[in-house]
Amino acid sequence: MIKILKGDEKMLVDGHTHTELCPHGSGESTEKMVQRAIRMGFQRYCITEHAPLPPEFQTELAGDPVGYTEASLRGDQVDDYLDLARGLQAKYANQIDISIGFEVDFLPGYEAWTKQFLAQYGAQTQENILSVHFMRGAQGHFWCIDLSTTDFQAGFSQWFEDPQRLFEQYYRTVLGSVQADFGPYTPQRIGHMSLVRKYQDYFGLTAPLDSANLALVDQALARIKQQNRELDLNLAGLYKPECNDFYPGNQILVRAQKLGIPLVYGSDAHDIKSVGHGYHLIKKLING
Ligand SMILES: [Zn+2]
Ligand SMILES: [Zn+2]
Repeated sequence: MIKILKGDEKMLVDGHTHTELCPHGSGESTEKMVQRAIRMGFQRYCITEHAPLPPEFQTELAGDPVGYTEASLRGDQVDDYLDLARGLQAKYANQIDISIGFEVDFLPGYEAWTKQFLAQYGAQTQENILSVHFMRGAQGHFWCIDLSTTDFQAGFSQWFEDPQRLFEQYYRTVLGSVQADFGPYTPQRIGHMSLVRKYQDYFGLTAPLDSANLALVDQALARIKQQNRELDLNLAGLYKPECNDFYPGNQILVRAQKLGIPLVYGSDAHDIKSVGHGYHLIKKLING
């Protein structure tokens, strides 16, 4: 049940996109991204900008400081972001169904802050994504999972000899993310559930998950199913030079399908040309 078509509606969806306000994005026009989606025949387009990070988190994050400063919107940009997205939602209402939301970070220990953020802004959103971009690594600090090979190595190389231990750290964090209570606006979709593989070809971390890690994955998927949530079928990894696979990868895809968990296509576009990236491949996966 891969759903580029969301729900029972025959609707082509790009369920994960960013905007010109994203500090690590291209700065390209969000409106032009929407126009491309319309041209390609998408009927629903989810704008899911990175929600701000808790200020105190900066003190716990090791590695390159841009891992914090450029990870997300700043708190003082949230209203501008919502205005931008609402403007496009209204302007293109006759051509495409735009949903507004956030890609929210799961940060163990900061659940209350995140819940408060969603309590404040959730009513202005329609679809949100919950993602793990950070986990604890060297010296007990948090490190970025997807910033650079340099930071990934500094944070997690102690586990490179035993990749299953690295995967365990990641999937324990993912499990924590789906168990967390973020209140009535808890994000409905779990983002790129194999981001730990972004640099797999660079560091030789391509081994399939072993049975212990699959048990963690199954625990997370069971929870996702029970909560009627969805998975982000995220094509960004396929185009990352050191990943070369889609997120969440085949092992998790098969298990999610067995459980009947909806998978929603997401380009994770941060620029115009990436909107809809790989969607013919996804349609073929659906239709055979
Ligand atoms: Zn991003
Ligand atoms: Zn993400």
